[in-house]
Amino acid sequence: MTDQNDSRTSTIIIGAGPIGLETALRLAQRRIDYLHIEAGQIGQVIADFPPLTQFFSSNERIAIAGVPIPSATQAKCRREEYLAYLRAVADQFDLHIKTYERVIDTDQSIDGFALHTRKRSGESRTYRARYIVLATGGTASPRALNVPGDDLAHVTHDLGEIHQYWRERVLIIGGKNSAVEAAIRCHSAGAKVTISYRGSEFSPRIKYWLRPELDMLIRKGAIDLRLNTIPTRITPTHVTLASTGDGHRDEIVEIEADRVLAMIGYRADMSLCRMLGVTLNGEAEVPSFDEDTMETNVPGVYVAGTVSAGTQSGFQVYIENSHIHADRIARAIAGEAPPPPPKPVILAES
Ligand code: NAP
Repeated sequence: MTDQNDSRTSTIIIGAGPIGLETALRLAQRRIDYLHIEAGQIGQVIADFPPLTQFFSSNERIAIAGVPIPSATQAKCRREEYLAYLRAVADQFDLHIKTYERVIDTDQSIDGFALHTRKRSGESRTYRARYIVLATGGTASPRALNVPGDDLAHVTHDLGEIHQYWRERVLIIGGKNSAVEAAIRCHSAGAKVTISYRGSEFSPRIKYWLRPELDMLIRKGAIDLRLNTIPTRITPTHVTLASTGDGHRDEIVEIEADRVLAMIGYRADMSLCRMLGVTLNGEAEVPSFDEDTMETNVPGVYVAGTVSAGTQSGFQVYIENSHIHADRIARAIAGEAPPPPPKPVILAES
């Protein structure tokens, strides 16, 4: 298609994470005309991971459209390797992606949809398509702590560069994989780590290779664990923790902290779903869609990847088990029968 100010294609995919890219590839394989729009860079969520983060999933589970991820060491991919892989796949298959262009409004007409976008330069565009695929992800923004002081500069939701934590007193809030991984990495980088978790014990969903190290560090007193606590106030030097036990909210302790890492999960941005009239269910805002085709209650609008689960608490939908979404959508748009159900995964853990 041409790069005019108002142009038409069969399908527009919004979001160029792994599953958005995989959907583009599946459409390209069927010679379906598509356009791909991404507000940031391809794989932006992964680009935002801390440097050298290693995926929990093994390589074959995050490879897209059957293109293998090469590894000299057989180790799981790191952030940088996976981003290089995504760039290579997009180049190899010549995927048409408009990066740093944000969809800001939508219209619907008898013959499809109009998407209005704004580029980084401020330039506006309109694209028209019969089908829209929303692959906008599930982790657009961190969950808010909502306590006084949560807007201070030393309170963050991203681990970032690990070097910054050397000899810092770090309070980590949360009790799932991000919190545990951050605690181990900060400790290894020379930080004095305290974890505040509102639960009475860690979830069995903590990755089995993180758990023994975490338990050992807590046993040795190298990481201070405060179970059944939540933060109630943050100052530049301290965090006040309150007990969550028995419904009490008594403030129990003040912890000295140079840094506060609120690893308390993320919220999906469901605004495009809302704009397009997709029904969102419950507090998690799970879109209504057909499991065979991924088509939502709005004919012609599909969801792919983690956006299909809205804002997740116990993550059940992630890259590993979303590959089939791309296949379902491409088949539905091509008028083919849905793919067979995915083969059961032999190992629950990757
Ligand atoms: P998460 O699974 O949503 O866990 C959020 C944690 O924060 C939970 O322990 C929750 O408590 C707690 N929490 C939520 N709201 C809170 C509040 N207002 N105050 C205090 N605590 C609060 O988020 P996540 O750990 O960031 O994991 C997100 C996804 O990323 C998961 O799929 C995870 O496996 C993945 N991940 C991957 C990697 C990797 O590949 N290297 C690394 C880290 C994470 P409850 O337990 O009581 O709900």
